[in-house]
Amino acid sequence: MENNELWQAALAKIELSVSKPSFLTWFQDTGITAVQDGIATVFVPNIFAKEWLQNKYHKTILHALRELTTDVKDITYAVGKLDNSPIQTLLRQPQKRKRFGLTDTPDDDTAPIKELTVDPETNLNPRYTFDHFVVGSFNELAHAAAQSVIKNPGTGYNPLFVYGGVGLGKTHLVQAIGNELLRQTPGVKVRYVPSEKYMTEVVDALKNQEMNSLKEKYKAIDCLIIDDIQFIARTEKMQEEFFHMFNALYQKNRQIIISSDRPPQAIATLEERLRSRFEGGMIADIGLPDFETRLLILRTKTETKKITIPEKVLIYIAENVKNNIRELEGALNRIVMAAKLSNAPIDEDAAKKIITSHVNAPKKFLTAKKILKAVSEFYDLDEKELTAHSRKKDVVKPRQIAMYLMREELKFSYPSIGDRFGGRDHTTAIHSCEKIAESLKTNTELEEEIRMVKDRILLG
Ligand code: ADP
Ligand code: MG
Repeated sequence: MENNELWQAALAKIELSVSKPSFLTWFQDTGITAVQDGIATVFVPNIFAKEWLQNKYHKTILHALRELTTDVKDITYAVGKLDNSPIQTLLRQPQKRKRFGLTDTPDDDTAPIKELTVDPETNLNPRYTFDHFVVGSFNELAHAAAQSVIKNPGTGYNPLFVYGGVGLGKTHLVQAIGNELLRQTPGVKVRYVPSEKYMTEVVDALKNQEMNSLKEKYKAIDCLIIDDIQFIARTEKMQEEFFHMFNALYQKNRQIIISSDRPPQAIATLEERLRSRFEGGMIADIGLPDFETRLLILRTKTETKKITIPEKVLIYIAENVKNNIRELEGALNRIVMAAKLSNAPIDEDAAKKIITSHVNAPKKFLTAKKILKAVSEFYDLDEKELTAHSRKKDVVKPRQIAMYLMREELKFSYPSIGDRFGGRDHTTAIHSCEKIAESLKTNTELEEEIRMVKDRILLG
């Protein structure tokens, strides 16, 4: 049996023991590659799906595969992409495509596996390139500065400091510079580091007395990209370490690229000497995309995802989702997903329903009950477990998320949230909500997770 057929057959079995939304959520874009020494590698689109399949569905998957072939003894999971994954194959059939609301014709080339993993050496995500990066008046300065850095790394704009609100493309842009430098000069030492990660590295190095080797490691970098620098300003010690590292690189004409949610002068606790270093380079902001640009971004996304959505629907989204590009993508994904789940085509009315319930009047249909139901379904828990006083590890996070959603979406008071969770104290509710809010600042997987939970509330 071909791997693809094997996986398709396995999916057919798995589908029977998993709810339809879970199936679409978790098994979308999965695939399998060669079975070697009894081990099959299941490909999943992201880390989150990987953990999820490993922790929740491992037995189900193994069982399904072993019923089909005795070759498989065990499974490993890897993040990667199969362009002709079984679900994609399924969606290639015109009738199915129509049923799932996909109206275009997919191309028929059977592309090989595209690895979409983050390179541990550079820490860059290959997804972030200039290929699908839309340039408009909102980001053209930052984009032009980026191009200039690529032409003259280290000797032109140094450091390049890019700032802008959340979801507007800072991470995408700074990583695209790194990926492009690497493409043009293979072997060049690029390193992308979210500032939180840098801080952990410093703390660990101090603890283990390995500061020298950490410094050596950074000294060898040709292009250092630090994302979300604003966090570094929280402690003096961290700023001091960063200042020395910055100077060491700067004096050797190594390129430094920094992103932040605000300009240097607006980072209140930023030390003067760091601020003047940052201001000595190029500072470029990213603003809000206008309507035309939002529409262009949506068109680009649908093209790369190879889905056709009526122009009217795209216009509707572009008119109503204005805050940032991440939300724009989110709205598009929700619409595609909802169309798949309900087997209805994507039309303007359906889009309206989804967008308005999300953007304009989310609170109206939302109840605490729905939140509890969606969270427990999503995490495969019993609703009672969620509100009970258990400290089981896999319940703690979902419980915190449920509390967070009640606070954020329903504006419940902390005591009343505590009440709903088995009469817990209001300080517990505060702690939970703050914990999630804090993690959300840096943890994009959690953000994605919560977005999926919200989608579920919407659909349920
Ligand atoms: P930030 O780091 O500013 O919070 P991100 O770089 O994570 O924002 O961008 C959020 C999402 O929007 C990402 O999926 C990114 O690929 C997409 N995106 C951002 N800017 C653009 C752009 N100019 N064109 C296309 N997609 C973009
Ligand atoms: Mg970012």
